[in-house]
Amino acid sequence: MRFKALEIALSREPIKVKNDFSNIQDMYACNVFNDDSMQTYLDKDTYKSLKASIKNGTKISREMASQIAVGMKAWAMERGVTHYTHWFQPLTGTTAEKHDSFFEPEGGRAVSKFSGNALVQQEPDASSLPSGGLRNTFEARGYTAWDPSSPAFIYENTSGKTLCIPTVFVSYTGEALDYKAPLLKSISLLDQAATDVCKYFYSDVSKVSASLGVEQEYFLVDKALFNQRPDLVMCGRTLFGYAAAKNQQMDDHYFGSIPDRVFNYMVDFENEALKLGIPLRTRHNEVAPGQYECAPQFEEINLAVDHNQLLMDLMDEVANRHGFKVLFHEKPFAGINGSGKHNNWSLMTDTGINLLSPGNNPLSSLSFLTFFVNTIKAFHDASDLIRASIASASNDHRLGANEAPPAIMSIFIGSTLSKVLEDLENNVKAKKGKTEDKKIDIAQIPEILVDNTDRNRTSPFAFTGNKFELRAVGSSKSCASPMMVLNAAMASQLNQFKKDVDALIADKKMRKNDAILTVLRGYLKDSKRVLFEGNGYGEEWVKEAKKRGLSNLRDTPAALGAYVSDSTVAMMSELGIFTQEELHARYHIELEDYTKKVQIEGRIIDEMAYTIVLPAAIRYQKELADNVIALKNAGMPKVQIDASMEVLEEVSSHINALKTKVDRMVEARKKANKIDDMSKQAKAYASKVNAEFDDIRYHADKLERLVDDNFWTMPKYRELLHIK
Ligand code: ADP
Ligand code: MG
Repeated sequence: MRFKALEIALSREPIKVKNDFSNIQDMYACNVFNDDSMQTYLDKDTYKSLKASIKNGTKISREMASQIAVGMKAWAMERGVTHYTHWFQPLTGTTAEKHDSFFEPEGGRAVSKFSGNALVQQEPDASSLPSGGLRNTFEARGYTAWDPSSPAFIYENTSGKTLCIPTVFVSYTGEALDYKAPLLKSISLLDQAATDVCKYFYSDVSKVSASLGVEQEYFLVDKALFNQRPDLVMCGRTLFGYAAAKNQQMDDHYFGSIPDRVFNYMVDFENEALKLGIPLRTRHNEVAPGQYECAPQFEEINLAVDHNQLLMDLMDEVANRHGFKVLFHEKPFAGINGSGKHNNWSLMTDTGINLLSPGNNPLSSLSFLTFFVNTIKAFHDASDLIRASIASASNDHRLGANEAPPAIMSIFIGSTLSKVLEDLENNVKAKKGKTEDKKIDIAQIPEILVDNTDRNRTSPFAFTGNKFELRAVGSSKSCASPMMVLNAAMASQLNQFKKDVDALIADKKMRKNDAILTVLRGYLKDSKRVLFEGNGYGEEWVKEAKKRGLSNLRDTPAALGAYVSDSTVAMMSELGIFTQEELHARYHIELEDYTKKVQIEGRIIDEMAYTIVLPAAIRYQKELADNVIALKNAGMPKVQIDASMEVLEEVSSHINALKTKVDRMVEARKKANKIDDMSKQAKAYASKVNAEFDDIRYHADKLERLVDDNFWTMPKYRELLHIK
């Protein structure tokens, strides 16, 4: 089986893909109902009011929706589209769609129809999607409602094209059942709060948008080999596998030349992405063998989140054409780097200012410091919730498991800004001319020049010149949840900041700039314990963080509690993003997701041990035993019989240990299944079931190392990762 799969993998030829700039110009956004298409297919008034609604977040009337639907349908049908779907992001963490045809029979003929109502709202019977108890099956109805701020697009499959309309998904009673609805709320709250604060510095700012650029890491393996591994097929990661002799220790993969077959795949999915207006710009090899990364130009956050979801779907589909399987799992292979999704986040005004870009004059420097320090405070206060928003069974293999970044939420800002903040806190007045531009004079607030090369790859949240980079998000995860939490925390923080500054101005008759600096100074004192410049991997940091009172939530069941903590409920309900019930629902969905994932892994380990590893090992054991008997019968000298005996004993002892430990894990799983309380059950799965996996694996991997290569039916690491 394994050799057949290897033969297939080795015989694949690269599929050539057209790759030139004129092609890119033609393709870019050709499948998006973007501004150009809107202008062509909508009448002037409709176009204008749609643009205004998108900009201001105002409601679109039914009449207007009908006009838009007519234009959208014409645009889509000219491009060969037959069906449309509301495209949404349910709490499964993936995307969902239900296709309807434009076609309707009328008087014995086929006519095409697409009404304003169909554009604006649909009622998919989505009772099988998770709701965390918010929606009983008797009121299974959920609504999808159009999100005009993310443009409709055409998704091409080999046998057809579908018009996809980005939507939110809410229950009959109005609770959010998806990731987009709360994200949109957080975006609008952040806009209001940041715009209000901007008024201290810039009177002409009327809108602030969060921006997001997502660096996406992934692995590629040959499809034929992938299909020979039940663990990869069912869990997206290898549960067994003896480490290849050569992994990433030579550092020869990172930024190395991209293999031809992989390069063709990259160009192909990039082209498909460009058609959908996803502005992919960067591609390179990552640290581990078989690991790669791509990144788009940053965009407005809602669009960037949609685009990342869409990109993962595309990458998966295009991989098929090239005989690859793309792995988004955070840790598909033990012993080498896992994958993350770096979320580069900033705040941009409608006047073109990046609020997290250090200023080049006193006013913009003060504005920068304001947003910078408020981000630190927001992150500090919400760090447990941020940890919860990135928690998953698969991300546990990175966070809290000797892999970057650690589970302790901290911020890296670099040496220049550390000094700036120190001076701000101590109210140091810089001597003019000294240490050139690097020092900030709080009284005069000159230019801040940040050294961009100051980097720390071990930090979960790093300031990288003009943006913060949340690196702790898992590669398979939707960015929606962590970005919603970050936006919400920042919105809440900026509201508080405005109140605090205004109070000082009104009550203490302080000057505006002094009031701002006074408040920032206080925030720094409250939150500076979250700043950490050192090595996030080290044991010292764990101790130091404990001393500082920072949380170290090492696994998902421990981390998820923050969803329902008093501070989360207070913040989210005050902002109007989630009610307590909605938070509990999400908490339960995440707990259940964790338990199910570990449960499935436990079952696959059991199955693979009994049906693949043990049979191979036992067959080999018999061969070894027969050999020992034969040697004895042949009257061979004792030393030579002993050598064979030793191999036999080693194999037998691992067989014994593997069986015993798998059985013990299965018993622990059965016990955990009887626990009713979801939180306790998830914790039992973490501490009693998941905790056994490494130990079981140890014996299986030893057997892989010992057993005759010809008996081993599963592709090995060296084949999965190093095949050229
Ligand atoms: P790296 O982190 O590997 O050095 P870059 O910093 O150039 O790479 O960019 C990483 C990502 O950050 C890209 O997607 C880029 O578009 C995005 N990015 C750059 N500026 C901003 C910004 N102001 N807001 C959000 N994302 C940004
Ligand atoms: Mg980066």
